[in-house]
Parts: sequence; structure tokens; C-alpha cells
Amino acid sequence: DSKYTQLRIFFFPFMAQGHSIPAIDMAKLFASRGVNVSIITTPLNAPRLAKSINNSGHPGREIELLIINFPSATVGLPDGCESLDLARSPDMFQSFFRATTMLEPEIDRILEQHRPHCLVADTFFPWTTDVAAKYGIPRVVFHGTCFFSLSAAASIIANRPFDKVSSDLEPFVIPNLPHEIKLTRSQVPGFLKEEVETDFIKLYRASKEVESRCYGFLINSFYELEPAYADYYRNVMGRRAWHIGPLSLYSNVKEDKAQRGDSVSIDEHDCLKWLDSKNPNSVLYVSFGSLANLTNSQLLEIAKGLEATGQDFIWVVRKEIHDQEEWLPEGFEKRIEGKGLIIRGWAPQVLILDHRSIGGFVTHCGWNSALEGVTAGLPMVTWPNSAEQFYNEKLITDVLKIGVSVGAMHWGRAGKDLITSEAIEKAVNRVMVGEEAEGMRSRAEALGIQAREAIEDGGSSFSDLKAFFDDIRSRI
Ligand code: UDP
Repeated sequence: DSKYTQLRIFFFPFMAQGHSIPAIDMAKLFASRGVNVSIITTPLNAPRLAKSINNSGHPGREIELLIINFPSATVGLPDGCESLDLARSPDMFQSFFRATTMLEPEIDRILEQHRPHCLVADTFFPWTTDVAAKYGIPRVVFHGTCFFSLSAAASIIANRPFDKVSSDLEPFVIPNLPHEIKLTRSQVPGFLKEEVETDFIKLYRASKEVESRCYGFLINSFYELEPAYADYYRNVMGRRAWHIGPLSLYSNVKEDKAQRGDSVSIDEHDCLKWLDSKNPNSVLYVSFGSLANLTNSQLLEIAKGLEATGQDFIWVVRKEIHDQEEWLPEGFEKRIEGKGLIIRGWAPQVLILDHRSIGGFVTHCGWNSALEGVTAGLPMVTWPNSAEQFYNEKLITDVLKIGVSVGAMHWGRAGKDLITSEAIEKAVNRVMVGEEAEGMRSRAEALGIQAREAIEDGGSSFSDLKAFFDDIRSRI
């Protein structure tokens, strides 16, 4: 759009797949509309991003990468630990967040030098608001989650309803939301309940405190998915927000040959051919995102549960953690030959989900995955573990009614809170076969259609994106 060619917008994505993947989609979307886009990143993340951007393959402007150093050594992290998935222990996790707070001088230098018209920085960089303000640059927050979870979190932080129940497993209602949503104390994120001040807790608090001073919020969602919560976020919480999702619809990975997130661990062509040989809606896709850390005994239960359902499946397992085979039942791979595909490492998730043979999704409810599932029109088995995933589960099961909970009860205890093969089998069967499954599938498919309409000319996300560009343009 020639109207926007004078706009210069900088992105500063958080260094974790679930945050950087949608940020890159956003950067590509902005560039395709003529905006000058730069992404600020670190040496180790730069090549990954470069491959995801693949400047030659998408329409519009080239995207520039600006590299800043990451102080791994200063906080005692091993060299090259510049992405959250490489922080393997709770201590490393905390150090990683501490390191990100030290990036301020470099960002200050970049903003002073380049003076972009807007800085879109991740919610985990709260300090960017004031640095940008020094140069009169509006800082827009990218949350990477939905209106529903932001609304639920705000209510829980303000009202602390979990203090009023007598046990960890007694349900409480999240106050003042448009629907009656119940949660248990055990499902509330640990960082909202802990007494000790960890680096992450300090950062999380800072990210919430700064919000009232941020210019606005870009949300990876579409209005029709959660209208009551989009309204709640804007009108009750008073946030200026633009919804521009589903961002995965802009990634065009198939056409422009760019990778999404990481190099895939399977021949994409073979994987799609395998899916081509299956019946529509007959294959289950099982993935827990880029960070979840399941124990071997939990993987064993998943294997047994999947086998018991008799359904065809694609199951993604994190290779760097589970490279040994002891988590598979005896003779499993032989028995499932032709029926099940295990991807060890990184899967081409969106390509798989969008294939017509996929009929259900077992998901940890990371927002990107959940929204990709919605966009593909899939009923889901919800299996949240950490971050804001327990809220996302409620949106899927209780509000949208397109999923069944596997029954995870404890935040941050993946694998320790063992989900049995029987529970897995039961939940999978409920989303794959029978009348209940058909009801969920038809609701999910309707949402998938609305998702595509939202980003088309005149759709709700299309219009909000234009409104966002016009807003920033009016300031220059
Ligand atoms: N993803 C992928 N291949 C994989 C695992 C994940 O492409 O093997 C992508 C997935 O499509 C999603 C993102 O990585 O876009 C994961 O983000 P999400 O919010 O679902 O979960 P997180 O990894 O942050 O827990």
C-alpha cells in the first residue's frame, strides 16, 4: 500500500519460538503492505530469523535485521543460550529473563540512531516503554496471547480469588468475566502465587505495571473468535488494542519456502504425501509446543493411549530431550507402522494442521498452537501445562466448545502430574468420533472460515491493521 511506504516500524521479539514466530509473521505482514520493517535480534537468533523471513520469497519490502549482543556470560548462562528453549533448568530460566533486562543500553542506542515511528516490543520487555518515550517513539506491546487470557489474568491478579478457596482443587469462578469460568488454585500460574521474588516474577509484574503507559497492544486474534473478551479488554480494562490475527495465515510458508520457527525434522513432501493417503478428518496431531518438558513415563502413557484409540496420528516429540527410545512401549513403532508418524524435533505444524486428513489436535494450549488449531477448524484435546495455557484451555472448552480437557490439574507440573493412557484415550475418542465430536468439529470449522474472512479485505483483522497503520501515520 503506497500510503504506508513512509512508515518505519521496528520489532523487538522475545527470544522464544512462541513469541518470535508470530512476531515474524507480523513483520512479514507489515512489509507486504509497504511498511519499512526492521527486527532487532541477537547473533544466535539472527540466522533462524533470516531463514524465516526469506526476503526474496514474499511480496513487499525487504526486512532488515538489527543485531544486538545477548549477555549470556554476564548472567552465567552457557555461550549461545539466546533462546528460552535452551534454558533447561529453573535457574537458567531465571537467568535468561535477567539477561533480557540488560539489553536496555543497546536498544537505547538503536532507537536514538534510527528513530523509527513505532516500536513493537514483546510484553517481556517492559523497560522498552520508557526508553522509546525518551525519543518520542510509541511503544506498542505484543502479547502473543488472546483477549480471553489477558482478561482472565487481569481479573485473577486484581481479585486473587484463589486466596478465598480452602483447597488447591476447589474450583472458583474468575470474577467479573462475561462467562462463568472456573479454575482451581492448582491451575493458577505459579508466578501469581509465589511469595519469593524471582527474576521472572519481577519482570512479569513490571510488564503489567507498565501497561497503562504503553501506546497500545497488538493482539494475535480475530474479533469473531472472542467478541465478548475483545470488548472487555478494550472497554472494561481500557486498553487500546488492535487485533490482527490469525497471524499464521500470513506466513505463506508453503509458497515462499521460508521455514517457520526452525528447520523441520522431516521431509515435508513425504509427510504431506503420507497425509494424502489418509481419509479426511481421520488423523490426530499431537504436539506440546516448543518448551514443554514431558517425562518419559508421561510419554509412555501417551503412546499407550494413542495406540488404544486405534486412530492414525502424527506425534511430535522434542528430540533434544527425548533422544533415547526408552519412553516407547516394547514393539510400539513396529505395531503402529503406517498408522502413526513420530516426528522427533521440529514439525511443519501449520502445514500439517491445514491438511484435510487431520481431524483433531492434542495441544498444550500455547496460544499460537490453539489459534492455529482454530484456524484449521479442528476440535482439540486440551492439555495445558504452564504460562497462560490453563486460561486458553477454558476458552477452547467452555466458551468456544470445540475441545475436551484431558484433565490436567496442576500448573507447571507436566509429567509429574501423570495423565493416564485411559484419560488420553477417552479424551481423544471424544474429539475424533461420534456425535459430540461432530458438533465440536462443525463449530471449529465455522470458526476456521471466520478466521480467513477476518484477514480478507474488509474483514475485522484487516480493518484493525489499517486502523493501526493510520494511527501511527497520523503521528508523523
Ligand atoms: N511449532 C512448529 N513445530 C513444532 C512445534 C511448534 O512449527 O514442532 C510452532 C507452532 O506452530 C507454534 C509455535 O511453534 O506457532 C509454538 O507456540 P505456542 O504458543 O503454541 O507454544 P510455546 O512453544 O510457546 O509453548
